[in-house]
Amino acid sequence: MATLGLASRKRHATVLCSEYQLVKHHSAGDEILPLPCNRWSCDYCGPRRRHALIRQAAAGQPNKVLTITVNTAVGQSPLERRQMLHNAWKILTKRIMRQFKWKKLHYMAFVEKTKRGEPHLHILLRCEYIPQQWLSSQLKELIGSPIVWIEQIKNTGQAVHYVTKYVGKEPAQFGTLKRYWMSRDYELEKTEVERQPVFDRNTMVIQRERYRELAHARYSQGWTSETTEDGWQRWYRPGQRSWERLANDAREAAALARDGPAQPLMGASAPVAAGRFAPSPSAER
Ligand SMILES: [Zn+2]
Repeated sequence: MATLGLASRKRHATVLCSEYQLVKHHSAGDEILPLPCNRWSCDYCGPRRRHALIRQAAAGQPNKVLTITVNTAVGQSPLERRQMLHNAWKILTKRIMRQFKWKKLHYMAFVEKTKRGEPHLHILLRCEYIPQQWLSSQLKELIGSPIVWIEQIKNTGQAVHYVTKYVGKEPAQFGTLKRYWMSRDYELEKTEVERQPVFDRNTMVIQRERYRELAHARYSQGWTSETTEDGWQRWYRPGQRSWERLANDAREAAALARDGPAQPLMGASAPVAAGRFAPSPSAER
């Protein structure tokens, strides 16, 4: 039985922000997978991304937080200073590994914009002791900014608290630069990544249309829809009620070709729109 219950419908809120959809066309209607916009500013996608970021941060089981700042006397703009911070951190990771003879440094970095519009870089680390003074002298040399904080964190709860405190609604973006990034093996437990749909060019097309408007127009034309467990929306043309009907149509067509009409075209109980869109000879139940 492929008809889906209320529970599965609840699990997938319809992605109304979608401007792109994957679509499979059928005679009874369409199957549509709205693709989320993934913008931080989106009411639907923003909180999901924030949630995913926090989960990733926790999955690295960090034991330290490092904050590096940039001297506002250097660089021409906050954007330029943001880039300087990024470069400094890149060099610093190499120096740390060399200095302490570590093969890897596991970290996750995210950007904060201070009230004055300046960048700070917050870095969650999973590593052994690094002396604050050593870090300070390195950053003084690299970007003229000796102001560095490094703190021990006891558990993932503290790490999450730290991230939520500095990330706020979203990690800051300067220009088009990254809001956050991490070393390759930062996550110890792989966080559940949302399943990406696989695009099959034989059965699917990509459509660009505002999903909210598409849905509105279709409902007003009498289409109905339901959501499958994997988030696809099944849209039925007016009068079509079930996906199984496709299979029935095929069976009936085969039977008709073989035996001729088995029953009257319009049964007494046929709905008004039955047969209008799918030229099936049988009355709908
Ligand atoms: Zn969105």
